[in-house]
Amino acid sequence: MEPLGAVSATALVDRLERPLRDLRISVTDRCNFRCTYCMPKEVFGADYAFLPRSEVLTFEEIERVARVFVSLGVEKLRLTGGEPLVRRDLPALVEMLASIRRPDGQPLDLTLTTNASALRKMAGPLAAAGLGRVTVSLDSLDDAVFGAMNGVDFPVAKVLDGIAAAQAAGLGPVKINMVVRRGINESSVLPMARWARTAGVTLRFIEYMDVGHTNGWRMDDVVPADELVALVDAEMPLVAEPPRYRGEVATRYRHAEGTGEIGLIASVTKPFCGDCTRARLSAEGRFYTCLFTGDGHDLRAVLRDPAAAGALDDAVLREAVAAVWRVRDDRYSEERTEATSTRLPRIEMFAMGG
Ligand code: SF4
Repeated sequence: MEPLGAVSATALVDRLERPLRDLRISVTDRCNFRCTYCMPKEVFGADYAFLPRSEVLTFEEIERVARVFVSLGVEKLRLTGGEPLVRRDLPALVEMLASIRRPDGQPLDLTLTTNASALRKMAGPLAAAGLGRVTVSLDSLDDAVFGAMNGVDFPVAKVLDGIAAAQAAGLGPVKINMVVRRGINESSVLPMARWARTAGVTLRFIEYMDVGHTNGWRMDDVVPADELVALVDAEMPLVAEPPRYRGEVATRYRHAEGTGEIGLIASVTKPFCGDCTRARLSAEGRFYTCLFTGDGHDLRAVLRDPAAAGALDDAVLREAVAAVWRVRDDRYSEERTEATSTRLPRIEMFAMGG
């Protein structure tokens, strides 16, 4: 990763001088959980129509798109969903992506975010295929509270088994994402922080966000980052750490006594749009420049354009991506108000790669 603030002369940058460094790839819109802040079951019930297979990008198409983004500056690929591990044969895609090299010949930072429901079984094959790290979503160690957050009463023990399997397979350092929602799981904050230190994982608290338009977001339900830091610091003193690179999402604090650190992803109270270097690719091939946008760019049409079939390189695709990024000026979190949170249209988080 480049040091803070350095952007090479030829780098592709947007209207706010932000380079394109990270691509989040949604490999499916499907998920076996119904997290209240992302895919509430009241809206996404058993009869919800997910994308038909024919509309979802194939592994070969995902690889083509990834190669184009890497040629434009992307250094990190994150596989997401929905829940990526529900996509069949995922290690085959990981192997294809792990073979991609940056223009300077360096390997990519290839990672994945999962609810760990299938991680105990999949950790080994994913690591063998070339995956580097995993991030696991876990919102409580208490089964009742976790069940209230994930909407399907999935047991904590199975997630912990998945985390242990990921550590054993060398997919570390494992990061844990915990969305904190007032009135639901803030009582789990300290137990999670204590556990993370002993489990050797990096816990990141995520401020509850107004993503999509189905989670009923209210500012009152947000537990601000400062409040979370104060809560942990009172019991386990913390020391703020400087960012490691431009675009690092989490603000980091290390434990003053002993090892380990926590992170805060504070999109609501401490927006970080100024350094946002992230692009998103949805399962059906739409390119999004911000988590809160309602407008994407159809790359699948370019991929499946008969006129481009057989073209040796993806010059057309590459120019399509570059043209979108050059005019990007998203900074929603800096503009957010209670009123903008109800602004529509907006794409659901699970449908654009989170
Ligand atoms: S709100 Fe949009 S621009 Fe700002 S950090 Fe999030 S994804 Fe990036």
